[in-house]
Amino acid sequence: MMTENKGKILVVDDDPTSLHLIADILEPVGYDLSFGTRGGDAISRCEPDTDLILLDYHLPDANGIEVCQMLKQHPTFSDIPVIFITANQDHDLEANGLSAGAVDFITKPYSTAVMMARVKTHIALKRQTDLLMRMTRVDDLTGVYNRRHVFDVGNREFSRAKRLKNDMCAMVLDIDFFKKINDSYGHDVGDKALIVFAQSINNRVRTTDIFGRVGGEEFIILLPDTNLEEALSLGDALLDLVRTIEVPLDGQAPLHYTVSIGLSNIEPEDHELTDLVKRADEHLYHAKQSGRDQIYS
Ligand code: GH3
Ligand code: MG
Ligand code: MG
Repeated sequence: MMTENKGKILVVDDDPTSLHLIADILEPVGYDLSFGTRGGDAISRCEPDTDLILLDYHLPDANGIEVCQMLKQHPTFSDIPVIFITANQDHDLEANGLSAGAVDFITKPYSTAVMMARVKTHIALKRQTDLLMRMTRVDDLTGVYNRRHVFDVGNREFSRAKRLKNDMCAMVLDIDFFKKINDSYGHDVGDKALIVFAQSINNRVRTTDIFGRVGGEEFIILLPDTNLEEALSLGDALLDLVRTIEVPLDGQAPLHYTVSIGLSNIEPEDHELTDLVKRADEHLYHAKQSGRDQIYS
């Protein structure tokens, strides 16, 4: 019988009887379950679209608190809710688990109804949070991150780069003569040009780079752990990439356009991310003044 997928759950417990019990409760009502028996499985068996982790507090090879903390610090899995399953009700243990980032506790022996209700509630909350995250951090038109996300994540990366004295670069990209594209071919073609531009760049940068649309036809790429030379070579590749973009036009040759890029790298006197971005903006102005379709650093 086909049942609706209500959510993807990873269950980590060293006791096969416990795993079977949870499977018997959750699988018939449509949850997609995967299983692990060791602490390390909480990460190695987790997937980016896992909705919930049910974690045994007492694993023979690992401390549940440490496993939970590891998940909460993980770049991809940190937002996946963790519910601890424990054999005894102990307030200190519960407090430690909650401060390690768990959202809830289920104490054995539990009733089917309690297990189902807690799982349902936390998956519903997770999905609402995901939706809110998309709505507030992703640009509607192009589907790439927006200014809020770029600066939120960027500020964190900037502090880290300062603390560890690591490299970091910022690139501001502004499409050339974009107003002319709108004026000559209409706003819809302008929108298409923005979408294909954003998607092309998004596919080219690394997952650790922070790319987003920060204004009408203006985009930023923040490059943690990247020096000026590496950033310049990426910038040159992006200029080339944009030159190959074609936007289809009715009854005429496709539209081509170019971009200008301002590049800056972190300096000891930079106190905040905006210092770095401000310099990239000044360099963008210089690239525009020098004839566009180029990078200036
Ligand atoms: P420059 O080479 O100096 O950057 O010139 P430009 O024409 O690209 O720059 P300008 O700032 O004069 O014009 C930007 C234009 O981008 C004006 C605005 O109408 C247009 N624009 C902003 N947001 C959108 C959008 O979401 N869709 C479309 N189609 N156009 C937009
Ligand atoms: Mg502009
Ligand atoms: Mg422009």
